[in-house]
Amino acid sequence: MPAGPSPPAQGQVRPLRGPGGPEIPALETYGPGGGLAAGQDRGCSDRRQRKGYAVDRLAGRVALVTGAASGIGAATARRLASEDAAVLVTDVQDDAGAHVAAEIIAGGGRAAYAHLDVTSQDDWEAAVAAVVREFGGLDILVNNAGIVDLAGIEDTSLADWRRTIEIGQTGVFLGMKTAAAALAASGHGSVINISSVFGASGGFGTSPAYHAAKGAVRTLTKNIALHWAGRGVRVNSVHPGFIDTPILDPVRGTPAEHAMTGLTPLGRLGQPAEVAAGVAYLASDDASFVTGLELYIDGGYMAR
Ligand code: NAD
Repeated sequence: MPAGPSPPAQGQVRPLRGPGGPEIPALETYGPGGGLAAGQDRGCSDRRQRKGYAVDRLAGRVALVTGAASGIGAATARRLASEDAAVLVTDVQDDAGAHVAAEIIAGGGRAAYAHLDVTSQDDWEAAVAAVVREFGGLDILVNNAGIVDLAGIEDTSLADWRRTIEIGQTGVFLGMKTAAAALAASGHGSVINISSVFGASGGFGTSPAYHAAKGAVRTLTKNIALHWAGRGVRVNSVHPGFIDTPILDPVRGTPAEHAMTGLTPLGRLGQPAEVAAGVAYLASDDASFVTGLELYIDGGYMAR
């Protein structure tokens, strides 16, 4: 495990920020239990008692979650922290991301926030270095950041296509590439790439860049799962159906929203926490024989 700085006294504040990113509100990155070197006794049972959490599958593990200021990413950061992982919350929405990290800390968990635009290799290198320096390593990488395009192919500009692909596809490539060494050093590394039901279907015939990016994430996941199987790093994709997050705001109240619930056998939108539960499973040793999997959390959408 790389040598890190000595842990600060409890309550001491240690800010993180990415290159070129704005000043991030300073956060307490060390909660009760002291330092964060993997495998240390981190005062887990104390925190569990205080938080009322019964599960500590991720005790001693360190996670980095992208796009964690909102929706599925925020729910995932909270869920991983609730199972005793230390979590680096990252996003381009700095205030909202810092708020998620602060909430986790206030609840007795360990977290910090760092600015990470997933399209920036410099940001990735800084974030991976920060998580290793601050938390002692990296065991779990959740590539979650994403945006959606809505138009049909005729009305999709090249700039819009490139932007959606850059965030949803290239960002996942950069994340795994940059974190490769740290994940291999973990001994129980786990990558969870957030694809979509639209990564394995034609959806509504619109959003071509989104489908292309999510489909690429599906096969990239299997490719890296094979490449890293020999070094003990598992790589899986999660395919949410229609989940109630801000990404759906542009279609609220439109026929598209009704179509989403209508096409979902369970008859409702999913909740971010229901996706986060699947991510936590794949991150944990409960999934120790699972790699290259596509996990659909979609209310039955793909069973139609
Ligand atoms: P969301 O809009 O609530 O969250 C997306 C997050 O990604 C935001 O916090 C945003 O700031 C961040 N982000 C955008 N561009 C970024 C960049 N360049 N670098 C870093 N972060 C960036 O949406 P969500 O529904 O929580 O989406 C999370 C993931 O789940 C996405 O990959 C999305 O495609 C996928 N997904 C969502 C649904 C759904 O119905 N909500 C369905 C299938 C897949």
